[in-house]
Amino acid sequence: MPKLGCPCGHVINLSIIPSPYGFEMIHEPKVGPFVAALSEAPIGVPAAKRERAIYDTELQRRWAIFQVYECERCLRLAVLRRASDADVAVWLMRDGQGSDARTSLAALVRKVPPPPEPSGSG
Ligand SMILES: [Zn+2]
Repeated sequence: MPKLGCPCGHVINLSIIPSPYGFEMIHEPKVGPFVAALSEAPIGVPAAKRERAIYDTELQRRWAIFQVYECERCLRLAVLRRASDADVAVWLMRDGQGSDARTSLAALVRKVPPPPEPSGSG
């Protein structure tokens, strides 16, 4: 699925991987077990491809990681049950409330300060 048509008429380009408009959403109760599973995943895949390989195989099915794309024009969110799905499960439209109601999620991510440097053995 290299492109996704938004109801506003904009076409979201999905040919860039990872997508600058893409997010992955996991149900909060599953975050802990998911992180544990990642840390226990077998090694044998090159590090750069390891995370994607894990997502694309067992873990995405097992942990129900939803793929979310944001329309850069209207900020509507397309939620897909899986990244490989051709159909959008639900479109979510913002209601205009909140201090960053007109800021894209991608822009909000860029505003998050980097984590502090490790303090060393101190
Ligand atoms: Zn749109």
